[in-house]
Amino acid sequence: MAIWLKRGATAEAKATADRKVRDIVEAALADIAQRGDAAVRDMSIQFDGWDREDYRLSQAEIDAAVESLTAQERKDIEFAQAQVRNFAQIQRDSMRDVEVETMPGVVLGHRHVPINAAGCYVPGGKYPLLASAHMSVITAKVAGVKRVITCAPPFQGKAARHIVAAQAMAGADAIYALGGIQAVGAMALGTQSIDPVDILVGPGNAFVAEAKRQLFGRVGIDLFAGPTETLIIADEVGCDPEMAATDILGQVEHGPDSPGVLLTTSERLARETMAEIERLLQILPTAEHARRAWQDFGEVIVAESDAEMVAIADEIASEHVQVMTADPDYFLQNMTNYGALFLGARTNVSFGDKVIGTNHTLPTKKAARYTGGLWVGKFLKTCTYQKVLTDEASALIGEYCSRLCALEGFAGHGEQANLRVRRYGGREVPY
Ligand code: NAD
Repeated sequence: MAIWLKRGATAEAKATADRKVRDIVEAALADIAQRGDAAVRDMSIQFDGWDREDYRLSQAEIDAAVESLTAQERKDIEFAQAQVRNFAQIQRDSMRDVEVETMPGVVLGHRHVPINAAGCYVPGGKYPLLASAHMSVITAKVAGVKRVITCAPPFQGKAARHIVAAQAMAGADAIYALGGIQAVGAMALGTQSIDPVDILVGPGNAFVAEAKRQLFGRVGIDLFAGPTETLIIADEVGCDPEMAATDILGQVEHGPDSPGVLLTTSERLARETMAEIERLLQILPTAEHARRAWQDFGEVIVAESDAEMVAIADEIASEHVQVMTADPDYFLQNMTNYGALFLGARTNVSFGDKVIGTNHTLPTKKAARYTGGLWVGKFLKTCTYQKVLTDEASALIGEYCSRLCALEGFAGHGEQANLRVRRYGGREVPY
């Protein structure tokens, strides 16, 4: 049986925090629905101290942001975007349209049809998270979305130039300097100045994730992608305390509500990692967020076997799972609930977050039980179609259909089928 050397926040504390966020978001979205741009502007002033007549950036502002990059910054962003584009294109190419004759004269098929308009949220409250621009905008474009608009909050009182440059380089059709609920609310509901989109994508803090959740139905959403979570699965063969501690702190620095969990079969590794975390917190420049997150949400679990670690990890269903054990592939083969796996010590979550090419927008709060992360398929609708090519096939299917409609009491449906049996089969349906 596993033992917990350190536990995170209770379920009750988490539920109370969720309720507060839910109420704030509900009121804000109702205000945007009613007052449009005026509400968006009021919220932008209230939450970000940011006031503009028009939140859409002009071409001159966008060009200035791109031109402000150093040659190295531009190359680094281009490299990351090339990796994301390349893997998204490979994934797109793997999705085949289907058309098949399932019985003589009956043709069924599906096509992957791009969604027409996407709104991509790029987070930027605490850090200007430019990587989210590649993840959303490029993936939407590879899928074939025609209109891709994007919002990011101002950073330190100005439009976040690195994000703006990345949004432009990724191919965004319009760029808005707007954050939080007001950004996703405006993109989904539309305002006097922003046409509504069909799907909202991208990560964000608890307010952004909850706003997307409440807007689902009105628009599509990619997934529930809130505050970052990380789980390190480690043993003494695949990992050491410095590596485990560094990889936990590298993610909990996202914000004070980001859980970091160590799951290991070695109590010694667990205790030494906890000590190493305390040491590193003394020198990490972003320790303010990381310390609170580790104190309030950090967990350390000692399990008896790899099999028990799989069971616990599937229960946690973490966004990121980094495996540093003697046999990382065992977890690839056996785990079922995770946003993304990082296998072996040579890779890590930061590679995935910034540059390696897999998408960093990933499910949180156990959404990994039912979805993977953002990918090109989230921008494509798998739409079916059918044709019946012969009179015989129409009459044959019609007879089955007519009898099944009668079982359900659907006279109108039944007559649709009966008409085909009479017209193409020259007979009445035998019951
Ligand atoms: P953010 O852009 O998500 O949120 C900033 C906005 O929040 C601000 O513009 C403001 O309008 C709004 N806001 C702040 N306080 C508010 C309040 N009290 N009421 C209403 N609105 C308020 O930036 P952030 O806060 O830095 O958060 C980024 C988040 O994105 C982090 O939690 C990070 O972990 C997460 N993230 C998740 C993933 C994923 O795939 N799940 C990936 C990357 C980042």
